[in-house]
Amino acid sequence: MQLTHPIFKVLSEIATAKGLEIYVIGGYVRDLILRRPSKDIDIVVLGSGIELAETAAKQLGNLNVSVFKNFGTAMFRYKGMEIEFVGARKESYQRDSRKPIVEEGTVDDDQKRRDFTINALAISLNQETYGQLVDPFGGMQDLKDGILRTPLDPVITFSDDPLRMMRAVRFASQLNFTIEAITFEGIIANKERLKIVSKERIMDEFNKIMASPRPSVGLKLLEQTGLLDVFFPELTALKGVESVDGIGHKDNFYHTLTVLDSVSRVSDDLWLRWAALLHDIAKPVTKKFIPGQGWTFYGHNHVGERMVGKLFNRLKLPQNEKMKYVQKLVSLHMRPIVLSEEIVTDSAVRRLLFDAGDDIDDLMTLAEADITSKNEVKVRRFMQNFQIVRQKLKEVEEKDAIRNFQPPVSGEEIMETFNLPPCKAIGDIKNAIKEAILEGIIGNDPTEAREYMFKVAAELGIQKQ
Ligand code: ATP
Ligand code: MG
Repeated sequence: MQLTHPIFKVLSEIATAKGLEIYVIGGYVRDLILRRPSKDIDIVVLGSGIELAETAAKQLGNLNVSVFKNFGTAMFRYKGMEIEFVGARKESYQRDSRKPIVEEGTVDDDQKRRDFTINALAISLNQETYGQLVDPFGGMQDLKDGILRTPLDPVITFSDDPLRMMRAVRFASQLNFTIEAITFEGIIANKERLKIVSKERIMDEFNKIMASPRPSVGLKLLEQTGLLDVFFPELTALKGVESVDGIGHKDNFYHTLTVLDSVSRVSDDLWLRWAALLHDIAKPVTKKFIPGQGWTFYGHNHVGERMVGKLFNRLKLPQNEKMKYVQKLVSLHMRPIVLSEEIVTDSAVRRLLFDAGDDIDDLMTLAEADITSKNEVKVRRFMQNFQIVRQKLKEVEEKDAIRNFQPPVSGEEIMETFNLPPCKAIGDIKNAIKEAILEGIIGNDPTEAREYMFKVAAELGIQKQ
């Protein structure tokens, strides 16, 4: 194996001088073979990883070492890489915890505690065998075949640390690999144990699935293994088709995955992808069959907006502007489509721009991806209308600059002009001006807005003092 990073020679020399056995192991080796970029290098040594890290850091110019005594690990940064050190170890687990009992061990022991054969590959940094691959579990073959398999009995591996089940699906989605059958069965057998893993750790892996090239690969696996039902039942509730009087609705789970993949083809933005994942989340709870109308999901966008808040809270996702952004897109996701079904008026476009603000482009991406009908004629018509909406959005924005609407007349100005104390009339006048602009009665312009202010005030019986 060709090891190019300069750290490897340095560590090899130090270890030789100290008489220590040393290897590079895990993700770095896997990604080297797959020619994927890595950000971290894991070093395993027979002996103290902390001591080796400290000696190396000193020699490389007194680099700052972070030591994690409890874990027996150490880390420093060198030439753009995080170099992590650990002493080779053997692990044994107790039933109620992800935290193992750790003893010193051999490289072989250390490889056995790894989650997948492709993550258990090591390359020797020892002088005599420098660059040789150490592959006791056929990890190289599995990399070639695109297979995820645990080195030991999967039932035990996943029971010991249930986070590994999420990692299996995450690697399958990131690398487009297949989870081998016995390993897959091991996940199904242990799915309930995911409950002992913190939401934060689950979401770390889930977000890596969401960020993968085709997130549907991971989401389908989560569904098939039963993991999704354990931590995200709102998504599995989207599954299935109900029929009344021979009229069915589409399967909203697979529809959602199609929308998510479409959005992911054009955007890497994690939160836009989340908006795609959740855009129809309230369909199961709002679903109703109305004779003569068929299946309806009234208000699913607004109920969905509220569900997003609850979900983000429960899943320990950020309760900040990212969440608000997802809520906004979920609540507005049907607007561009509704608009494109009608004659596209300037005022409707202005209102959409006003409500979406700077997120208008993302909203259009989501809404366009949401058109997944099997009826090609319908899809083509929608797409054409969408082009018209996009064109109109551009024209109206150039003319009226509604995207980041700031009221052209402030509350203070209204109070001063009419010598009014703070009162309801101020809000009414401001609102009337905003409505007039959105309706196209006046332009988005201070002079026109002031003129209009006097008109509204007169109608309300307010005189200039
Ligand atoms: P990435 O860096 O892309 O997240 P990775 O496989 O490198 O993927 P890390 O968290 O960096 O993941 O872990 C480095 C290595 O440590 C893995 O390749 C694997 O050998 C081992 N490892 C990590 N987490 C676990 C785990 N939960 N169980 C067993 N081995 C693990
Ligand atoms: Mg890594």
